[in-house]
Amino acid sequence: MRYKRAHRGAESDEVAVNPLFARRGEERVPRFSLPTEEMLPETAYQLIHDELLLDGNARQNLASFVTTWMEREADDLYREAADKNLVDRDEYPLTAAVEERCVHIIAGLWHAPDTQQAMGVSTVGSSEACMLAGLALKRHWQRARREAGKPSDRPNIVLSSAVQVVWEKFANYWGVEARQVPVTAEHPHLTAAGVLDAVDENTIGVVPVLGLNFTGCYEPVAEIASALDDLSDRTGLDIPIHVDAASGGFFAPFLHPEVRWDFRLNRVHSINASGHKYGLVYPGVGWVVWRLREHVPDELVFDVSYLGGDIATYGLNFSRPGAQVLLQYFNFLRLGRRGFTRVHQVCQDVAVHIAGELDKSDAFEVISAGTDLPVVCWRLADGRRRNWDLYDLSNRLRDRGWMVPAYPMPKDIQDMVVMRIVVRNGFSIDLAHLLLDDVREAVDYLNHLEAPLPRDVRETKSFHH
Ligand SMILES: *Cc1c(COP(=O)(O)O)cnc(C)c1O
Repeated sequence: MRYKRAHRGAESDEVAVNPLFARRGEERVPRFSLPTEEMLPETAYQLIHDELLLDGNARQNLASFVTTWMEREADDLYREAADKNLVDRDEYPLTAAVEERCVHIIAGLWHAPDTQQAMGVSTVGSSEACMLAGLALKRHWQRARREAGKPSDRPNIVLSSAVQVVWEKFANYWGVEARQVPVTAEHPHLTAAGVLDAVDENTIGVVPVLGLNFTGCYEPVAEIASALDDLSDRTGLDIPIHVDAASGGFFAPFLHPEVRWDFRLNRVHSINASGHKYGLVYPGVGWVVWRLREHVPDELVFDVSYLGGDIATYGLNFSRPGAQVLLQYFNFLRLGRRGFTRVHQVCQDVAVHIAGELDKSDAFEVISAGTDLPVVCWRLADGRRRNWDLYDLSNRLRDRGWMVPAYPMPKDIQDMVVMRIVVRNGFSIDLAHLLLDDVREAVDYLNHLEAPLPRDVRETKSFHH
């Protein structure tokens, strides 16, 4: 597989090593082939360390949902546990036990009626979790169809056209039709009416998203569940819900406990979340939990014995780092309900403040004001002639180090271009003020342009949520 080369420097076939620490013969190393000779560990370290210097500054990365900072004690734990292989339950039974504890804690957070009856696993991220949840839905549906003597070869899954790319992958990889309900400018999310139009007897499940990547808005899970309850009463068609709560799963329980999106709704069979988003762990951990063990068809579960007992596993990977799971548990102990609430509340306050300030500018129209996920999303206000657009603004902010992406909305409303800021722990109100100053300055500069910038200058970078 070929990847696009990311840096201009990558065109040379050799990496130059700083002469201060290179030994003779180490001054240049091949970039794309295995070097013939060894080098000192210090030199290898320094070389990679220096290359990473040109990566963006994580503090100013307002594009990503993923954690970039943890406390020193978490870093210590990470180092101590770097060698733990999660699948080695015999060798590391306590790491396995911690994973179990986390599943119970998360099932409780999401109001599973009985956390002992729930089943869950850690994954590499929400993407793997979504695959597992989607596959369980598919097998569950297939079994019911076979038992009823009906064909089971044309499964579909219903979601909005604003879902994360993982659902298109799921549909493609596992042979399921993705029925994407078009979003509209008025309802840029899944609606109960749209779901009712799309479902049929071949629907394996409906997937609302708690916290769309595009806008940070919660899709109305309770309304969709109630429409499906009603459909079930009327027609007997009993379609389960999986909630993709990659971001919201570790946010809503703390800041929006009144929003009913989780296992309080009987129709919600499973939920996924990324530990490395608002679960505040470094990249590499996700979770999926099923309300009841029976929602995972037996044929998908493999029994592995450890500590003289059998434990059931369901996952795509075999060997996998155990450290992230321990870090998730670290956060649960360290923060508790109060700590998570306090940390997330600051993010929400900062997001709402930024949205309020942007709203005062007559250049912008705020689309989401940071009141669901702490995500601010805005577009250019209509009705003014300008020599610039949001891509220009994004590039201008990039010159100041800020990574604030501009991108088109999902396919049904892709003419609408928006800009988005994801507020994460560490983006303080002081940094927000600095950012807002830079936005004002950039808008002022752009407003003074006498003609549009040439196209090659404003070349738009592709953006993946
Ligand atoms: C981030 C995200 C994903 C993918 O999660 P990873 O943890 O990055 O694999 C899936 N769905 C939604 C809604 C997301 O926000």
